[in-house]
Amino acid sequence: MVQEIIPGLFRLSIPMVAGGLGWTTPYVFRGNDGLTLFDCGYGTRGAIDALTEQVREIGGEVSDIKRLLVSHAHGDHLGMARWIKSQSPGCELVMMGQERFPHTHYTDPDAARRGGDAWAFRHGLDMSVRETDIDDGFNQRFREEREVEQEMAARRAAGTSDTATESEMATRAMGRIEPDVRLRDGEEYSFDGWTLQAVWTPGHTPGHLCLHEPNRKFTFTGDHVLSRITPNVSVSAEDEDIARSPLREFRESLQKVAALDTVLGLPAHQDTIENLPARCLEILEHHDQRLDEVDTALGVSRLSATEVAEGVTWSKPWNTFSIYKRRAALGETLSHLQVLVEDGRVRRMEIDDRVLWQRIEQ
Ligand SMILES: [Zn+2]
Repeated sequence: MVQEIIPGLFRLSIPMVAGGLGWTTPYVFRGNDGLTLFDCGYGTRGAIDALTEQVREIGGEVSDIKRLLVSHAHGDHLGMARWIKSQSPGCELVMMGQERFPHTHYTDPDAARRGGDAWAFRHGLDMSVRETDIDDGFNQRFREEREVEQEMAARRAAGTSDTATESEMATRAMGRIEPDVRLRDGEEYSFDGWTLQAVWTPGHTPGHLCLHEPNRKFTFTGDHVLSRITPNVSVSAEDEDIARSPLREFRESLQKVAALDTVLGLPAHQDTIENLPARCLEILEHHDQRLDEVDTALGVSRLSATEVAEGVTWSKPWNTFSIYKRRAALGETLSHLQVLVEDGRVRRMEIDDRVLWQRIEQ
C-alpha cells in the first residue's frame, strides 16, 4: 500500500468506504522535521486506521505530521484534516487562498438542499423524486460524510459513548475548518529541504491547488489531472450567482499545468501520470469534443440544460441515471453551455423563471 516514489517521498493508499470509488492517494515527505502530508482522506474509521498504519510503515506517527497541504475542499481530500490536527497539535493546514468551503452544506444542510433543488428546477430537473428514486450508488459521497454521525448515534443509543469519544469523533465529521496558511499563485512553500511551488488550478473547485517541485520536476495534481478519468467540472447555484465559468477556468488551468517544466504527475487518485503535459492536452481535447457534442444536442431547439444533457452521450444511458447522477450531469452540461455562451455560439435566456438555451445561428 505504501510506495516510495523517490527517496523520502511516499505514496499512501487510503480507502474510501463506499465501493467503486476506490482510494485517495496522499503523499508523505519524511524529513528531519517531521512529516509533511499532501491530501488525506475522509475521517471515516477505515481511512483513519489506514493512514495511521501506513504512516507507521514509514517509521512515523500521525502526531509527527507537522504540515498538511490539501489540494481542495472536498471530503476525500480534506475530510480527515480536523482529526489530524487534533492528534498533532500545531500541525499547519495549508491550502490555496482562493478555495471555497461548502460551510452551509454542514451547518445548514436543509437550507443547502432546498436552494439546490430550486436551482435544479430552474434548469429543468425535478429533485423531489429523490426519495423514491433508484439508488445507483452515485450518492455514496454523502453517505460517507454521514458515516461518523451514524456511528455517534449508534454509540449513544448503546450507551457506549463518553465525552472523550464524542470529542474525538466530532473531529472526524466534515465540519468548518480554516487553513492556517493560504497560498498565493506561484508562491513557494519550503520545509525540510524541499521547496514546492503553488500552482492555482481552478476548475474542479475555485481554489484547487497543484504543487510543483522544480528540481525533480514532478507535480502533485490533486484532482485537477487524473490518469484515467476527468474530474467533475460543474456549474453550481453558487457559481451561477457570481457568473463563474468553471470549464473555462479548468481549460486555462490545464494549459497552465501543461506548460510547467514537469514530466511526472502525482494525482490524488488512480495511477501516477508518466507524461503530465500530454495528459493535460488529452483532457483539453476531450472537452473540445464535448463542447461540440453539447452544441449538437442543442440543435435548433430552445432547451433547458437538463434536456440538453439527455441528448448527450454518457457512460451509461440517461434513463438508468439516479437523480443525483442526473444533477451531476446537469452541472457538467451547464459548464459546457456557459463556455459556448462565452464563445458566442449559444444564447442563455430566462423565461417564466426557467433557464433555456438556444444556438445563435451563424
Ligand atoms: Zn477527489
